[in-house]
Amino acid sequence: MDKPKLFIPGPTHVDSELLSSLSEYPVGHRSTQFSELYDEVVDGVQKVLFTSNRILLGTCSATGLMEAAVRNTVQKRCANFVCGAFSKRWHEVTASCGIECDSISVELGKATKPEAVREVLETGKYDTITVVHNETSTGVMNPIAEIAEVVRDFPDVVLLVDMVSSMASVKVEVDILGIDVALASVQKGWGLPPGFAVCSVSDRVIERSEQISNKGYYFDFKVMEKYAKKSQTPTTPSIPHMQGLRSQLARIFQDGVENRFQQHIKLAEEVRSWVRQKFDTFAESGYESNTVTCAGNPNGIDLIDMANRLLERGYMISGGYGPLKGKTFRIAHMGNLQMNDIRDLLTSMDNVLDEM
Ligand SMILES: *Cc1c(COP(=O)(O)O)cnc(C)c1O
Repeated sequence: MDKPKLFIPGPTHVDSELLSSLSEYPVGHRSTQFSELYDEVVDGVQKVLFTSNRILLGTCSATGLMEAAVRNTVQKRCANFVCGAFSKRWHEVTASCGIECDSISVELGKATKPEAVREVLETGKYDTITVVHNETSTGVMNPIAEIAEVVRDFPDVVLLVDMVSSMASVKVEVDILGIDVALASVQKGWGLPPGFAVCSVSDRVIERSEQISNKGYYFDFKVMEKYAKKSQTPTTPSIPHMQGLRSQLARIFQDGVENRFQQHIKLAEEVRSWVRQKFDTFAESGYESNTVTCAGNPNGIDLIDMANRLLERGYMISGGYGPLKGKTFRIAHMGNLQMNDIRDLLTSMDNVLDEM
């Protein structure tokens, strides 16, 4: 392969067979064949998310659906829980839509805790909260089940969850937890090329959307819902991505969706134990992500030199993000990566460290 294998937290590794499923001959987006494709994709995504909520499809990256989620939901005020760059982005997205909102942040590397969520919701100021399940910039996986449990004590509060780097790699049972919107782009945990995004949307979000005006057209859940009922999208979607997603779903169910989740726990353990021997893990203990490990650099190793040497061997890892640039690096183990890929990478990293 002339291109480096991707161990960065998005876009993630796609093998050539899966890649070729995105180059099928297109179908018309008002045809029966399209609606069949649509239904298959929706049905599969529902199964992976353990939900009977409607699935809406976006020809955009995840940030588009982050914007859609807040625009269609917040009537009073939104609390954006921030623990890193992507959760911070959701606050910026919310504020830039002119929506009343506050950011509630923790120190980088720490998780958003259920007690903090309860304290904020007890103020009675908020009707919506945003939480990033897996904060890709710090390698922290927030305790989403415990957070959702708190939110269920506040029946008027809608829970929006960014699952960009966990969906289809980490098990999250959307209906049991009561997540109103769970969203992700497809180039991370789903393991497809970038350019498409999916979300599950609860009835009460659609009810709110009906009461909110001036939310634009492209991301209006009400419009998307109207077409979803006909197994269509309002505008021409990325049909290649839907064809790719159909193939990926078939693979996921063939291997077993539970096996896929278990597999990612094993990959995470493998990477974490290597990182602890050679560096240290940046995330708060007990909240380390099962899809991306963020490593600290206690011995002051030249991280750029290390990454370049790995690149020469055909592996791409990722540097620190935002304020963590130069101080940390990240190894992704999400999407399609298998144990032999991870072991190859770690062996190469051992060799690189020995020669540095
Ligand atoms: C990558 C990422 C995003 C942004 O996704 P895009 O598809 O690039 O818009 C948002 N949240 C998290 C947690 C991410 O990892």
